[in-house]
Amino acid sequence: MPAAFSTPSLGNPLIRELSSWPDLLAWPDLLAWYDRHRRALPWRATPGETADPYRVWLSEIMLQQTTVATVIPYFHRFTQRFPDINALAAAAEEDVLALWAGLGYYARARNLVAAARAVAARGGFPRDLAGLRALPGIGPYTAAAIGAIAFGAASLPVDGNVLRVLVRHFAIADPLPGARAAILARAAALARDAAFRARPGDAVQALFDLGAGVCMPGRPDCALCPLAGNCRGLAAGLAAELPRKSAKPPRPERFGAQFWLVDAADQVLLRRRPRNGLLGGMVELPGTPWRAAPYSPAEALALAPMAADWRAAGVVRHVFTHFALTLEVHAARVERITAPGFLRPLAALDAEALPSVMRKCVRAAARAAAWRAA
Ligand code: SF4
Repeated sequence: MPAAFSTPSLGNPLIRELSSWPDLLAWPDLLAWYDRHRRALPWRATPGETADPYRVWLSEIMLQQTTVATVIPYFHRFTQRFPDINALAAAAEEDVLALWAGLGYYARARNLVAAARAVAARGGFPRDLAGLRALPGIGPYTAAAIGAIAFGAASLPVDGNVLRVLVRHFAIADPLPGARAAILARAAALARDAAFRARPGDAVQALFDLGAGVCMPGRPDCALCPLAGNCRGLAAGLAAELPRKSAKPPRPERFGAQFWLVDAADQVLLRRRPRNGLLGGMVELPGTPWRAAPYSPAEALALAPMAADWRAAGVVRHVFTHFALTLEVHAARVERITAPGFLRPLAALDAEALPSVMRKCVRAAARAAAWRAA
């Protein structure tokens, strides 16, 4: 039986009254709904099939901070190229980074290779949560998801979809992120329910699907929801306005310049970023450090990789999780490139591990005409 939880009321008498409702989630109703409405996803086992831990793990890593729609084509490309854990374990890190380019949060790709090698070396995935968490790139959430879906562990991972459903279902009116610890405790209690433990993988994926397709951000479709009968958020008329969030501090701004340099043989100068840190191990156009104050053109050009007839080729804006970046792109053509870095043919850039921000710089340079005529 789940532990009793107090539902923060923020003075709303209706929520106070609803807090006497049982702290249960109607797993049988949710599972029956899932059996009829489950999404077909490329990493998901079909009914009666056993989940493949490799595909579950790969999808869970890709889905961190990334939408299902974005992940699907990457997942197909990855599994075509690396159909199992041994194939991925044998891959060069650069090849994995190149295939990951555009998906963001690149530490995930480096950890993916390290984890694949560890799993291949031990002859398979660990089946328990502690063993999963010991693998590179797997935190509590991902271990809980893989554990439940691939190995039937009684663990309920709380991603954005699950969090939204729980907050609304239990009318948790305290704002995030402060309310997060209480939500995790509630999820742990719900996972002890016998109905959950009977089908943990399906129960978890049912909540994923409910959050993605019914209990959606801003517009819950409560008329279609199998949990509507016991939903406190719906009963209190609060569903659409939950979860509440504390005001975020403004995102810091950073500035920099990147240099697009092409030689007479149509080769572009590139360099690889340091292995650790932001975009670690990825490929980039040479550039200035990124800093809090904008660069004047003279300041930026003083840091260009070599002397050339540099022309302005546009401005790129990119928002990372912790800061927003504005980059001035400068472009030039020279006979021969003598600067440090490595050269790649223009026509082969798609195969490089260029992160999204650098692909924006490449597109800006491709659109600009001045440097071609120079
Ligand atoms: S009844 Fe509405 S608010 Fe409650 S869980 Fe279902 S969709 Fe979400």
